[in-house]
Amino acid sequence: MNTEVRVFFYGHRIPGGAEAVLVPARCGPDVADVREGFGPQAVDVWVTLDETDERLPILLRLLEQHGERRVVWKRDLFTDAELDAAPLLLIDPKPELEIFGGPRIGTTYDVTDACKVCGAGARQTSALLINGEELNALEGRRAASTYYSDLIVEDRLAGQLASSGVTGLSFRGVFAAFENQVRFQLPWRQLCANKTLPPMSPRSTGIIRDTHCACGRSGVTGTAEQPTRLVYHAADLADMQDVNLTWEWFGEPRFNGDVSDALFPYPWFLVTPKVWRIYRDAGVTGFDWLPIRVEEG
Ligand SMILES: [Zn+2]
Repeated sequence: MNTEVRVFFYGHRIPGGAEAVLVPARCGPDVADVREGFGPQAVDVWVTLDETDERLPILLRLLEQHGERRVVWKRDLFTDAELDAAPLLLIDPKPELEIFGGPRIGTTYDVTDACKVCGAGARQTSALLINGEELNALEGRRAASTYYSDLIVEDRLAGQLASSGVTGLSFRGVFAAFENQVRFQLPWRQLCANKTLPPMSPRSTGIIRDTHCACGRSGVTGTAEQPTRLVYHAADLADMQDVNLTWEWFGEPRFNGDVSDALFPYPWFLVTPKVWRIYRDAGVTGFDWLPIRVEEG
C-alpha cells in the first residue's frame, strides 16, 4: 500500500508565482500540474506525491513560509494482490461516475422505521429513479453510482454477478425520470444489499462524526485530509456476505418528513474481493477499492 498525497494551492498568490515554490521543492511537471484557474491571471497548482517523498515536507514548508493556504488530500493506493487478499473492500465511486437519483427524482421509500430527524433507516420500496438529463454520464460505462452510493451496473454485468453466486445481493430496476413525468426503464440494475454489518470500530480513521444525529447512525462523513481506513472487530464479520452495508449512514441529510423532498443519508457498500474481481474482469474503472482492517476480539 502507498499513500498518495495531493496538495492544491493558488500559484498566482505567491510572489514569483508557482515556480518560486515548485523549483526549490524540486517538483517538476511529472508531479506538478500547473493550470489556468478561474479569474484573471489565476493559476491552480496540483502536486501529487507519495507520502514518503522527501519533497513533500519541503513543499509544505515553503507554502507555509509564503503564508499560502493549501489543501491536502490523502488516499491509500493498493496493489491487486492486496485487494485480492482483503476481507472486505469499501467501494468508493469517483465523482465522474456519479449521477443524481433517489427520493427527489421519484424513488419511493418507507420511513416507518427510519429516524424521524435524519431519515437513516429509510427503506427503498420502488425501482431506482435517476435523473434522465444526466444519462450521458452512463455512456460507455458498465457500472456507476448515484451521489448517494446507490450502485448500478448494466444488465450484462448484473447477470455476471447473479450467476457467480455472490451472496447477500439482490437487484432492482433502474428508470430514467424526466421533468415532464416521462419515465423509461434503462438496461441497468441497482445492486441491493441484504446484510447490514454491526457498527465499525472506533479505531476507524478518515471519517468524522461531528454532526451526529441523535439516532447515532447518521452524520458521519468521509474526510479527504486523512485516508479512509475502516476497522472492524473480527467477531462482527462472522455473518458477513459478499455484499454488505455499513451500519453507519453517511452524507449530510435533509429530511423534514417529506420523502419527495428528502436528501437521505446512505450506508456505504463493503464487498468481498469476489465482487471486485467480477468488476475488474468486466473492465470497470472509476472506483476506488479500499480494504478494511480487522482487529481481533
Ligand atoms: Zn437520525
